[in-house]
Amino acid sequence: MKRTRAECAHGGAALPASGLRSSKKACEACGVTEDLRICQTCGYVACCESHEGHDTAHFEATGHPLIRPRTEGGWLRRRSGWLWCYLCRAYLE
Ligand SMILES: [Zn+2]
Ligand SMILES: [Zn+2]
Ligand SMILES: [Zn+2]
Repeated sequence: MKRTRAECAHGGAALPASGLRSSKKACEACGVTEDLRICQTCGYVACCESHEGHDTAHFEATGHPLIRPRTEGGWLRRRSGWLWCYLCRAYLE
């Protein structure tokens, strides 16, 4: 499912294009270094569902709904434009 950012009522529309970044290079919960996501509310770095799913765990613990892939280091550069909103349950473009 996809939405435009303007359709997200949870802060997606207000985020800058580049989003929140982080210098951390590993999941803050388990240390995984691939497929990392950055919380766009607080900058927390977490792994995705392909690993331990700490991005979802962070949302469930904090209610911070917006994540985007961590692009520094080169991975996922092609898809770096997306945001995921847990409350919309949609990718925002
Ligand atoms: Zn939303
Ligand atoms: Zn993790
Ligand atoms: Zn957060």
